[in-house]
Formats: sequence, C-alpha cells, structure tokens
Amino acid sequence: MKILTFDIEEWFHIIHKYPEDILDKWDNYEVRIHKGMDKILQVLSENDVKATFFVVGYIARKHPEIIKRIHDLGFEIAAHSDMHKAAYKQSRKEFKLDLSDCISSIENITGEKVISYRAPAFSIKKENVWAFEVLNELGIEYDASIFSAKRDDGGFDDFELSTPLIIKYNGISIKEFPMSIDTFMGRKFVASGGGYFRFFPYWFIRKLLKDADYTMTYFHPRDFDPSQPILDGLSLKRKFKSYYNLGTSYVKLRQLVYDFDFIDMREAAEIVNWNNVPIIDLNNHSNDK
Ligand SMILES: [Zn+2]
Repeated sequence: MKILTFDIEEWFHIIHKYPEDILDKWDNYEVRIHKGMDKILQVLSENDVKATFFVVGYIARKHPEIIKRIHDLGFEIAAHSDMHKAAYKQSRKEFKLDLSDCISSIENITGEKVISYRAPAFSIKKENVWAFEVLNELGIEYDASIFSAKRDDGGFDDFELSTPLIIKYNGISIKEFPMSIDTFMGRKFVASGGGYFRFFPYWFIRKLLKDADYTMTYFHPRDFDPSQPILDGLSLKRKFKSYYNLGTSYVKLRQLVYDFDFIDMREAAEIVNWNNVPIIDLNNHSNDK
C-alpha cells in the first residue's frame, strides 16, 4: 500500500517554534503557496490519483479558495494544526485549542467533518502522548504523526513499528498510519518525503519503494517551488535540509506518481484489516524495548 499525502502550508512554515507576534510577520511575507499547489494538482489530475491533504488552519483562513478547490476535486482534507507549532512545545490546553481552531476553519469551508490529523514535524513524541487523547476528544479517528526514527525535531525513535496499527492510551484508541521507514546499510531514514527525497537519486527512491509493502509519503507545496526565498535565521544544516536539490523534486514527484499506484488515507483505511494490525498500548510502552 502506497499512500500519497501533502501538508498544505507556506514556504515559511519550515520551522515549528514561533514568537508570539508571528502573525504580523506571516501576513507580510510573500504568498507563494499557489505555485506548488498548481503543480501538485496537475500531477494528480494527469495520473487520476487521489491524495490526502493535511491543511494548516492559518492557510484555510487566508486562502479558503485553495481548500475549496481541493475539496471540490474530491480529495480528502485533514488537519495539520492551526499555527504549525510543534505539538510537544504546547500544553495540553494550548494543543487542544490550536487543533480545534484548525478543524473548525476547515469544516467552515468544506462542511465536512475532519477525521484525520498529522502533527507539524511529526511532533508527537513519548513526552506528549496525551495528544492522542486530545485527538480523540476532537473526533479524530486517524493519525499520521508517528515517525519512528530520530529527527532533529519530533520523532518517536523507539516506536519501532512503521506499518498501520492501533494506538491505545488511557482507554481511547486511534488508528495510526505512521511514516514508513526505509533502511539502507543499517541506517533508518525516510526517503518518501523531506530532505532525503530531494537528496537521493530517483532510481534509489524507486528501488526503496518497490521493495516496501507500505509507504507513506509527505510533500509540501514549497517542495516544488525552487525559487522560493530562503528563510532568515536558519542553521546551515537546516538550510541544506530544506533547500538542497529543490529543482529536482517536481520531476521526481511526477515520475513517482506515474510509476506507483498511490491511494489516499481514506481508501487505505478501508483496505486495512484493523482486526489484524498490531496494537500498541502506550500506557505499557516501555522505553527500553
Ligand atoms: Zn508541516
């Protein structure tokens, strides 16, 4: 199963910690999201393929026409936080308020209940697993926030499983579509999105995906906008990870969507036999497994 997903955010949403006055700054930045959106929708229409769009609430309010367009084309719309802050940097109360703002901003446009979620930067970790209870309280049934490998920000590196599973915690359960993890020469990484997707040559990514039973992807409109401005204040490493090889990613995406049969999360949720997936009880999840 290969799942195609896009996180709908701007070129300046590459970080996940923001000062209080960030909205003024965001509103003065150049709007570039349409450049990447047009390319994404073009690839999907050329190949007649469905995808799930995880939308930032700020984008839904600023550009409701984008959300309307995605929805009118029949694509699944899911939540990706309201202000793109890392989940683990928020209190439970802040997290719940932020996510419910995101959900209502989307639902006001589509008129449809949001039931799927991905945290910015995969920021549900061991220290904030209470986030799953909040997801449950807000009617989220499917989550795609688990990234079971080391990351600079976010990541749940001892989670170990990276296929669909059920998470249980304090009496609630959530159906999880974790990021798929690739392994090469003993190293764990994700090639189906982010920096490694741009870094590796296409033939290598294709081989990894061909060999995998389950692949979850994640792309952004900015991944297909090679002339975007460079955000101020990033470390050299972060700059490399965010902008290296940007010019190649659209060609790779087109080839990828052409070469493989992708589905969206909604269809994946129907295909998975949920009676037959691993159950992870986070109340008993040990750190030294
Ligand atoms: Zn994001």
